[in-house]
Amino acid sequence: MRAIAFMNQKGGVGKTTCTVNLAAALAEAGQRVLLVDIDPQANASIHLAVEIHNLPRSIYHVLTGACTVREAVQECRPRLSILPANIDLSGAEIELVNAVGRETILRDALGLYLNEEPFDFILFDCPPTLGLLSLNALTAAREVIIPIQTEFFALQGMAKLLDVVQIIQRRLNHDLQITGIVPTLFDGRTILGNEVVAEIRKFFGDKVFRTSIRNTIKLAEAPSHGKTILEYAGDSMGAADFRDLAREILSRTAREV
Ligand code: ADP
Ligand code: MG
Repeated sequence: MRAIAFMNQKGGVGKTTCTVNLAAALAEAGQRVLLVDIDPQANASIHLAVEIHNLPRSIYHVLTGACTVREAVQECRPRLSILPANIDLSGAEIELVNAVGRETILRDALGLYLNEEPFDFILFDCPPTLGLLSLNALTAAREVIIPIQTEFFALQGMAKLLDVVQIIQRRLNHDLQITGIVPTLFDGRTILGNEVVAEIRKFFGDKVFRTSIRNTIKLAEAPSHGKTILEYAGDSMGAADFRDLAREILSRTAREV
């Protein structure tokens, strides 16, 4: 089983788009996938058409000990399940601030569930912060994938993110590794887009996936229909990019940071 956190403390870089559509592409390829939505904005849950208002059981209830993972997980597509979130989760960081072992709650709760449910992949959609929720995801995961938007400030803040990953490796999760970097919102027709990808490759070397996720309108439209890109526009460029990324991830194992 591979457990991968999609992390970047910047918002709007394509984390949720990558997590949801990659989950769909992996499921299409025959993998059993659990998507863990650990962002109070609940964008991944909404993207997969989970009814998030008045969710009786969500990741918030798991983190606060009110229910088990099994009780909160929903099977939302063939081979694809979700541990959903909603706005309740925004209170968790403060409510858990004095909890003993607060960074490992998710890892412990998932461990019990995964003993009985054999998934091939667990993908964590992280919030755009380096707070307690992201720490829980990075502690429960074995791998990190960093989506980077191919814009002028692409690498700004990267040193901080790499620091945090190293601190978590040392203190909480020795197995954590960065598997790869995904350039997102890529526009290959512009000089800037190509320059930024070159810059990202110079910085991260062969950790950068060969697949870049291109900027296409269909990827931006799919969430409002509650559909993955494979459902919304299965023959589109966006669908092709996520199928390529899924193939690459299946062929690549975690490497040293
Ligand atoms: P994050 O989770 O990092 O905040 P999102 O995945 O929610 O980022 O993406 C931010 C916005 O950009 C969303 O409206 C999303 O639909 C859109 N978007 C993301 N990736 C693409 C893409 N490759 N092409 C077009 N729009 C995209
Ligand atoms: Mg998001």
